[in-house]
Amino acid sequence: MKQQEWNKGIYVNGTWLTLDKRMIVQNPATLATIGSVPDAGAEEAKQAVDAAQAAFASWSKTTAYERATLLERWHQAIEARLDEIAYVMTMEQGKPLAEARGEVQYANSYIKWYAEEAKRIYGETIPSSAVSKRIIVQKQPVGVVAAVTPWNFPAAMIARKLAPALAAGCTAVAKPAEQTPLTALLLAECAEEAGIPAGVINIVTTSRAGEVVDVWMEDSRVKKLTFTGSTPVGKLLMKKAADTVKKLSLELGGLAPFIVAEDANLEAAVKGLIQSKFRNAGQTCICANRIYVHEAVKEPFLQRLTEAVAALRVGVGTEDHVEIGPLIDDRAVKKVRQQVDDAISKGAVLHGNPELEGAVGYFLKPVVLSEVTDEMLCMQEETFGPIAPVSTYSDDADVIRRANATPYGLAAYVFTQSLTRAFMFSENLEYGIVGVNDGGPSVAQAPFGGMKESGLGREGSHQGIEEYLEVKYISLQLV
Ligand code: NAD
Repeated sequence: MKQQEWNKGIYVNGTWLTLDKRMIVQNPATLATIGSVPDAGAEEAKQAVDAAQAAFASWSKTTAYERATLLERWHQAIEARLDEIAYVMTMEQGKPLAEARGEVQYANSYIKWYAEEAKRIYGETIPSSAVSKRIIVQKQPVGVVAAVTPWNFPAAMIARKLAPALAAGCTAVAKPAEQTPLTALLLAECAEEAGIPAGVINIVTTSRAGEVVDVWMEDSRVKKLTFTGSTPVGKLLMKKAADTVKKLSLELGGLAPFIVAEDANLEAAVKGLIQSKFRNAGQTCICANRIYVHEAVKEPFLQRLTEAVAALRVGVGTEDHVEIGPLIDDRAVKKVRQQVDDAISKGAVLHGNPELEGAVGYFLKPVVLSEVTDEMLCMQEETFGPIAPVSTYSDDADVIRRANATPYGLAAYVFTQSLTRAFMFSENLEYGIVGVNDGGPSVAQAPFGGMKESGLGREGSHQGIEEYLEVKYISLQLV
């Protein structure tokens, strides 16, 4: 595909609105401007809620089968434009094309799953204690949903929220991250092509997240917030949701421990670590962040890992065979450099060189740090970059204590060939997701989400749709 600019409008009430005030979209690999989108404000935020509220009246009354058919058509429309969406994603986010294609397919798998799941919103009948009474439990859509998403998975985060919301009978207003608005708008184009009615999905792009999202938080017509992003912003929005008692789903930060036991298959452990740590240049919430290797296997593990990391190809994501793209911005690069410098100053050993000579964009090469200790910044703060800090342990109970000693609780990984150890670790780790010999546990049919300060609620699986449903108990007296 040849270089072009994407200049799009926002999607409100089935109409594409172009505003005079616009913001540019930049390619983090080349720093070139690749397009622009409206820089919307409070007025457009309110228009979006007006549209979603009006559409809710009819969308919530459609049958599950009608919604399933439209979601299935949305899935097909995305499938038909997969290459284009993946290319735009690589241009605005930086991840290699193969990963971007994988993400579009992964995002689309949620739309497919929830097209099917719409038909299984079951209620209950409960035995009554009186002969003349019937107890019936129904599920109903919560109403207008506000979705706020990050830049690291520009398609998946939108799909993981809108697919279950629409399947449940809700309508939505969504705000993608300012760095990656184009992918979200392409998904909305596909929804329009699929015939999803006006107002059911509304996408507002802005550089002033607070202004737009505050309108939604204050509006009592918005019944739920579904947010993916950092823990500090999640906490702020949780407080703001209190005034109108909105339902909340929060997918927040992580600090995943990755434990390699003395009986691990080291080849599988290194493969799993490369997948978990370096996908999206280390910018995923379930990224391995703290690696704990049993002392008995430290040397062979480190040797395999440093070789595998040195072989990873870094570059512009649209070029062939690139495995690691740029980071999202300068701030991200500075944070990773600071973690590397801090670790070295406290005694860690650096394997490799993070600096990419001649780089124009926000590149850092993947590196390994060994002799790492728990007080180093890279073991305390989410890294969101391509460094693999390796520490050691000698006692299972002690490494579980260290792994749990954090406010985060999203994903954890354990590599072991012992079934007993697999259960012992996974049952004692305070994390919502545990990958046992698996560096890539996220799939549409499984519940994804965190414990502790990593969030509330789950996305994916039959549990994901419950987040968009109210429970109504009908007590029926036969008179
Ligand atoms: P972020 O919190 O800065 O931004 C996320 C979204 O919130 C963006 O759309 C942003 O514009 C918006 N936002 C920022 N400030 C806001 C405010 N004051 N009011 C309202 N909205 C605001 O996070 P990020 O840097 O875009 O994303 C990275 C973070 O997301 C990491 O912490 C990562 O772990 C987390 N994440 C979590 C999951 C998960 O499923 N748990 C998935 C992906 C990313």
